[in-house]
Amino acid sequence: MPLENNDLKSTIRNNINRLVAEKRFTNAVLALSMTPGESHIGRMRRGERDIGLDALEQFAKVLEVSVNDLVTPYETEHPVQLVCRACGSTELWFDAKARWNAAIQDFELAEVMQGEYCEACDGQCSIERKPIDPTEKRYQCQNCDEVMPAEKLQSIDDIERRRAHWGPGDQVPDGQCPNCGSLAFEMDG
Ligand SMILES: [Zn+2]
Ligand SMILES: [Zn+2]
Repeated sequence: MPLENNDLKSTIRNNINRLVAEKRFTNAVLALSMTPGESHIGRMRRGERDIGLDALEQFAKVLEVSVNDLVTPYETEHPVQLVCRACGSTELWFDAKARWNAAIQDFELAEVMQGEYCEACDGQCSIERKPIDPTEKRYQCQNCDEVMPAEKLQSIDDIERRRAHWGPGDQVPDGQCPNCGSLAFEMDG
């Protein structure tokens, strides 16, 4: 198994970290079902230690997926939007650990912690991964950057006054953001 490939390593790490977060496992819980100790599991999840085939098989078993699932990039085949379970907002923030990767001269996400924060609820929330339908049109608020489907858009208040500010070549707004009241526009692609 060619685990020396850096893309493959980060794919595996991302898949493991995603599944661990979904199941709300801790490294200590994982260590109960795996032979690598808790600290080794933590180092593997942060990319400080390579994940060998044996550990990969154990991760797959405890996370109830196949080894193939762990080596396949998830997001390319299953694009998702993370939304707040309480209000549906996509304005979410996450605490994460990053490491400097000298090869790409940039930070690399190592681990996303629990404790998601929703701007719309102004508090900690629980999140849901919603599959993105590539054919569905999406709209973005020009002020708060919220991305939403058509059914969340509100009709534009005071449209006559606001229309006075639109130039002839300007993109016509499709509606109003339910969070901040600014104009929202259809997104490209
Ligand atoms: Zn919320
Ligand atoms: Zn907004």
